[in-house]
Amino acid sequence: EDDDIEDDDEEVNEVADKVEQVVKVLPEDSREHLNLVFLGHVDAGKSTLSGSIMVLTGQVDPHTLAKYEREAKENHRESWIYAYIMDTNEEERTKGKTVEVGRAHFETVKKRYTILDAPGHRLYVPNMIVGAAQADVGILVISSKKGEFEAGVDGGQTIEHARLAKMIGIKYLIVFVNKMDEPTVMWSKARYDEITDKLTVHLKKCGWNPKKDFQFIPGSGYGTLNVKDPLAPGVCDWYSGPSLIGTLDNLATFDRNESGALRIPITTSYKDRGIVNVIGKVESGSITVGQSIHIMPGKTKVEVLSLTGDICSFKTARPGENITIALKGIEGDDAIRPGSILAEINRPVPVVSEIEALVFILDMPDERKLFTPNFSAVFHAHTAVEDVTVKSLIATIDTKTSAEIKQKPTFCKVGDAVKCRLVLSRAVCLEEFATNPQLARFTLRDSTKTIAFGKVINIGKKAKEEI
Ligand code: GDP
Repeated sequence: EDDDIEDDDEEVNEVADKVEQVVKVLPEDSREHLNLVFLGHVDAGKSTLSGSIMVLTGQVDPHTLAKYEREAKENHRESWIYAYIMDTNEEERTKGKTVEVGRAHFETVKKRYTILDAPGHRLYVPNMIVGAAQADVGILVISSKKGEFEAGVDGGQTIEHARLAKMIGIKYLIVFVNKMDEPTVMWSKARYDEITDKLTVHLKKCGWNPKKDFQFIPGSGYGTLNVKDPLAPGVCDWYSGPSLIGTLDNLATFDRNESGALRIPITTSYKDRGIVNVIGKVESGSITVGQSIHIMPGKTKVEVLSLTGDICSFKTARPGENITIALKGIEGDDAIRPGSILAEINRPVPVVSEIEALVFILDMPDERKLFTPNFSAVFHAHTAVEDVTVKSLIATIDTKTSAEIKQKPTFCKVGDAVKCRLVLSRAVCLEEFATNPQLARFTLRDSTKTIAFGKVINIGKKAKEEI
């Protein structure tokens, strides 16, 4: 019997040794953590602005930045930050890690920040959704240059990104009116007012409340003006507000659902020296080293070996943290697939293949098509991607009053909101909007367009009984 105990001890020590080798043990850090995503039309200046922030906060020196910019150009990549993020993860990449969401970090005296970037997100919007779905704050970059602002708004990506950002639950939008240094602009107040007035109208239509959900900042990413330090006197005397980083630092703390059940959608997984690691954002609840949890939907039981952030480690990680979690109890990552969630064992996440949902129809694959039973699309919720078919239409809804307008409509069209039943090709971890909005929001897409946005309103009696 004693031998057995010794064997167990040995095993425990071995694992502990391994974790020590594999995991960087970093100090704990109680500063607030925010997840950011850069949004906006091509060439608005997202990469340049990300670069300025990284240089100004001392994460990368200008020389190294220039190297990445050169390499990005040579490899015909649009974004230097993608090259940077991939490079900083080189070690993990050689271990066969699939990077679904790239990350870079910076910090200020007040807060820790993670910039999320989806590889090639300009070409492939669904990836942008995965990255952006974890963001707390969206930085919508707008080019103020003559013609560029107009191109970004009329048929460009500016409004689509703003709309998607709202739908997937980003809480706050900072609109950075960029290129104010440009010869056609020269810090003109008239141009700034024109842009902010027009955008306010559009943003309101996308559901953003001008009183509390967004604000505008003029600046130049290229000239690093109003990015970290406030503008010097004489540059733009009509603006006296804080800089971009100053604004981020001063944002009120977001309400986070710490008392809720633990939910971490997994964005990335990889194996390092025999230990499986996963990366994800804590959406609700908290997670502690030593805790036993489930990888859902398969209910694979694992133990938490360590919790590591970008620049610190945790004994307990709370909602909002974006962490790497080393797991014990699995040999490979077979249990993990897009849509996998880490969940508490005694508060399991529902796994459902049929839902009642409220769907807002934004666009149809082609003008003649209608939203009817049997209509099919691709369903994106947190990191899950599955085929979905409309089973039945229950009622059209008045979005202002939530009243049911028409029972059992035979079809719906762009602009309608409809309560309907949807059937997924495979069961997905989902919750009702009233319980956990981050696990209840979804988009319906075809290969090129966002067709609809939706919320899960009922997961069904059977699913509820199971949890
Ligand atoms: P992205 O596609 O949004 O990532 O845009 P980039 O960061 O690649 O920038 C697109 C172009 O705009 C590049 O030629 C930049 O040099 C230029 N640019 C970016 N920021 C500024 C700025 O603040 N002022 C001016 N004048 N040009 C800028």
